[in-house]
Amino acid sequence: MSKQEFKAESKKLLDMMINSIYTHKEIFLREIISNASDAIDKLYYKELSEQKTGLTRDNFKITIAIDKEAGKLTVSDNGIGMSREELENNLGTIAKSGSFDFKNENEAKEDIDIIGQFGVGFYSAFMVSDHVEVITKKYGSEEAYSWVSEGADGYTIESAEKDGHGTDIILHIKEDTEEEKYSDYLEQYHISSLIKKYSDYITYPIQMDFEMRKPVEKAEDAPEDAEPEFETVIETRTLNSMVPIWKKNKADLTDEDYNSYYKEKFYDFTDPVCHIHTRVEGQITYDALMYVPSRAPYDYMSKDFKRGLALYTNGVMIMEKCEDLLPEYFNFVTGVVDSADLSLNISRELLQHDRQLKLIAKNIEKKISSELIKLQENDRDKYMEFFKTFGVQLKFGIYNSYGMNKDKLQDLLIYSSSADDEKYVTFKEYVSRMPEGQEHIYYACGETADKIKALPQAEAAKAKGYEVLYMTDNVDEFTLQMMNEYDGKTFMNINASEFDLSTEEEKEAIKKENEEAKIILDVMKETLGDKVNDVRFTNTLANYPVCLTNEGDLSIEMEKTLNAMPLGEKVKADLVLEINASHDVAAKLKSLESDETKLKEYTEVLYDLAKIISGLSIDDPARLSELVCKMM
Ligand code: ADP
Repeated sequence: MSKQEFKAESKKLLDMMINSIYTHKEIFLREIISNASDAIDKLYYKELSEQKTGLTRDNFKITIAIDKEAGKLTVSDNGIGMSREELENNLGTIAKSGSFDFKNENEAKEDIDIIGQFGVGFYSAFMVSDHVEVITKKYGSEEAYSWVSEGADGYTIESAEKDGHGTDIILHIKEDTEEEKYSDYLEQYHISSLIKKYSDYITYPIQMDFEMRKPVEKAEDAPEDAEPEFETVIETRTLNSMVPIWKKNKADLTDEDYNSYYKEKFYDFTDPVCHIHTRVEGQITYDALMYVPSRAPYDYMSKDFKRGLALYTNGVMIMEKCEDLLPEYFNFVTGVVDSADLSLNISRELLQHDRQLKLIAKNIEKKISSELIKLQENDRDKYMEFFKTFGVQLKFGIYNSYGMNKDKLQDLLIYSSSADDEKYVTFKEYVSRMPEGQEHIYYACGETADKIKALPQAEAAKAKGYEVLYMTDNVDEFTLQMMNEYDGKTFMNINASEFDLSTEEEKEAIKKENEEAKIILDVMKETLGDKVNDVRFTNTLANYPVCLTNEGDLSIEMEKTLNAMPLGEKVKADLVLEINASHDVAAKLKSLESDETKLKEYTEVLYDLAKIISGLSIDDPARLSELVCKMM
């Protein structure tokens, strides 16, 4: 049996294609301009390889013309043009890419940056036009042809008149509908902005004529009070910047250049904290220019915020925010990546999740890390400024990954500490100055550094010469729990009941004291019910009468955070009410062994005081004030 060819219903196929490949109609302009640029490249390449045309780069341009009245948008190039046969082959066959063939034929000869490859971009013109006219003259030929099509129904080719080689693509823009204002594509400002958005780095000038009304200079003999006269002059403007800043040499760029590009492109009016400009060549080749903003974007905390870098290939924007290029914990970084090595899918809108993209993302992540570390080492003040805005994101990065990202992120974290709460310290610095005999990394939690400094245990640590890290973000302790240790040192909350810096003898003495006071301690415990796990005397409290510590993994601060979450079960930290054995209150309590009523009231008051000292709110302020007044 002979093999039958499939017959594609080309009308349907075209319809389908036109309406389903692209999500944004406006990209038609990018496609048409990319084709024009390809056509110029081909001619330029011919000159480079044959040196017959005598043309130089300066001869080439792409011209845009708008005729509002006739509803026409024309994109012209002086590139290689098409013969009749090529017109038929390239525009008469869907998914035939002359550019792809060209690349194949010329492979290995030279690096040619041709954008087209799928042979469908041209048809996107039908998303916005009722009919499209192509007038073209092949370089070196005398004949010009016009190709006309209304889309699905087919096309006609006729001889035509045209000066010079190249191609005019004339789009007859559709009438406005309820859903779509097609007439926008006949507005100069709109077309200019689309070119800026998608085609800014096409390497040939994209030009458009603008009509300007200018005052005419007054004649010498004109009367003083003569009305000023105006004339219309045509000004040709180049709409694209052609060479993107990231393609320029670092040595030729100043901080000012980088910053003003940032502010213009990313709509910020403050300078970024730093920029990262990198060119990688090898397994994969790309340029990247990234910025760490100094302020969070206004929607940073909202659901609408999208992370990502703009992705370009050969000077054409493919994606405004490519999420896959940035890990969530570096979501504050903004910028662009440009690579010619990407395999694009058919619409140029999405990339296949391919190896190259992953490779770039991995490199970029490392680069951001190392640049942040550099900043941390060389300009701590600037780093602190950055960290105050985005540090929480890094902490979440460790927490959310259950500690898997610990190695990547832990050295980026900084905290204020008892050594100097103005200058933040890294874990590395902390560990490097730990005194002999210190086993743990000590930390304390609270709303502010000042509140933490006032904690009773902070004094005890200070007396021993131990530095304490101040944790003021809700996520802090959760992050530490996920980290488990740093450099072999486990973390210890100085508010945990385990935190005990006393000597063996002191421990023995207090144990005995607690045993002797068992009767009153039992009464106190009973009074407080399930509010505490234990009540005991301690000798670690310096000048404070009482404090609350916690047993087990859940700290008081974590309890607060978890219970503030809208969903989820309520949790309870296991608390211990500790009483300073050498404080006057201890003696007073011991004297109340025979007065249970008073002992109970004192217990209630002391418990509330302990909560206040720990920065917690008390359950029943009215009851506390009643008791205090009674005692007075
Ligand atoms: P692609 O650009 O992906 O190859 P298109 O559908 O956009 O696919 O274009 C099909 C082919 O038509 C191109 O490969 C090219 O050979 C030809 N073509 C399109 N526009 C032009 C132009 N302005 N000048 C010369 N050839 C063109």
